[in-house]
Amino acid sequence: MATNRTFTMIKPDAVQNGYAGKILDQMTEAGFKVIALKYMQLDESTAGNFYGVHRERPFFNDLVTFMTSGPIYAAILEKENAVEDFRALIGATNPAEAAEGTIRQRFAKSIDANAVHGSDSDVNADIEGSFFFSQFERF
Ligand code: GDP
Repeated sequence: MATNRTFTMIKPDAVQNGYAGKILDQMTEAGFKVIALKYMQLDESTAGNFYGVHRERPFFNDLVTFMTSGPIYAAILEKENAVEDFRALIGATNPAEAAEGTIRQRFAKSIDANAVHGSDSDVNADIEGSFFFSQFERF
């Protein structure tokens, strides 16, 4: 069953480059409501667990090193058709292939440092949101 929530992170490159405010603004302008929000730095174990599905991929170590390299914003967002609409808003994984005006096209430089995460399914949105937030941290 489709839900109306998705999970996002503003990744270390975008925070480092000072884009977090502009990215949050683009998300809310597109109709996403912030249900939960944290500013934090991931440690190796947390980043490794979050991206556990990619553990066997050749880029896994680089991904964990990158995701722990500086602070991130983690958030749960709400909107009708949230997962699909948010994936459209952020654009393709590789910013070189991301559509004009998408968050990754505007703010990302490379496939690894690609500015934002967005859940790829309703099931994962729920798992990822619960990985970061308790029920008492959602409004
Ligand atoms: P997403 O759902 O669009 O974030 O893409 P994936 O789930 O396929 O990959 C997860 C994350 O791993 C991406 O957002 C990138 O940060 C990173 N990633 C994916 N492919 C590569 C790659 O070929 N090299 C590196 N270094 N990182 C990658």
